[in-house]
Amino acid sequence: MELDLKEIKLEGVEGKRPVVIAGPCSAESEEQTLNTAKQLASKGIKIFRAGIWKPRTKPGGFEGVGEKGLPWLQRVKQETGMRVATEVATAKHVEEVLKHDIDLLWIGARTSANPFAVQEIADSLRGVDIPVLVKNPVNPDLELWIGALERLNNAGIKQLGVIHRGFSSYDKKIYRNLPQWHIPIELRRRLPRLPIICDPSHIGGKRELIAPLCQQAMDLNFDGLMIESHENPDCAWSDAMQQVTPDILSYILNLLVIREGKQTTDNLSELRSQIDECDNQLIETLAKRMRISREIGVFKKEHNMTIFQSGRYDEIINKRGIQAVQCGMDSEFMKKVFEAIHEESVRQQVEIINK
Ligand code: PEP
Ligand code: MN
Repeated sequence: MELDLKEIKLEGVEGKRPVVIAGPCSAESEEQTLNTAKQLASKGIKIFRAGIWKPRTKPGGFEGVGEKGLPWLQRVKQETGMRVATEVATAKHVEEVLKHDIDLLWIGARTSANPFAVQEIADSLRGVDIPVLVKNPVNPDLELWIGALERLNNAGIKQLGVIHRGFSSYDKKIYRNLPQWHIPIELRRRLPRLPIICDPSHIGGKRELIAPLCQQAMDLNFDGLMIESHENPDCAWSDAMQQVTPDILSYILNLLVIREGKQTTDNLSELRSQIDECDNQLIETLAKRMRISREIGVFKKEHNMTIFQSGRYDEIINKRGIQAVQCGMDSEFMKKVFEAIHEESVRQQVEIINK
């Protein structure tokens, strides 16, 4: 479906790319909210973020100050001239933010994964002309992400944009949420007019990763960045590890290399990130194939069969050679690939048999 879009006013420092939205993960007190906002304003930031209702993984943590924080955001507007943004997850949140003149809304990753919740928000925004940024759903499902945009658009919301905040995974070795760049890149291919903002704080989960992730987002031609910034990050009530002071934020922004125009390097990094993703999938698929192969090894051992079954080997090599040609590749090349795969597979089975 084509979206019916209207351009959102999104500003960067000194009117330049990238668009920057910055502010604490959570508004904690009037003082912390205002102090942080004033420092950010002095660095040229034009859009302030602060979470008022916080979706937390586990109960018992700080779940946001709630409605009482909305007047603090109004004070930020009055005293700094910045526009203010917050997260909404329910119709009640929408009702409250509209009463308090909030300029920009975002839908969080847990909410955009839930079509009932998105529909409820969309319905409560019917007839209101306000920009809404939709974070990617926690699970890597592009259709669900686009579905959330369609629900809002069907309710008449035309000022739409997205925030890429990475995708949840069991493996949290490097990133808190895996970037899976090919997903926002595919989103841009499908909806080229939609602004894409990268949220390096939630992708990285740690301060050191913010700068490299910002640069990567710029190299991929994203429109902007949403970065968590707190006057005293170590003492933040939520997401302390991934917030930086306004000073550090400004330093990170100044170091960014912004290549302007529709340059080929952007296209090249986009294409490279797609290649990386293909390679990841190739390795995962090969690992799965080897696991199955080991299971076959167990079966052969139990049934006293030989590992090498030449009929099966010939069948694989011939069949894949023909398929390769049908897909525009050389049959000899594919033969080599499958010989190598088969060799590793046999090695794995030998290991099982000798156990
Ligand atoms: C946030 O922006 O603070 C937040 C809760 O983000 P996400 O929905 O991406 O987890
Ligand atoms: Mn956060």
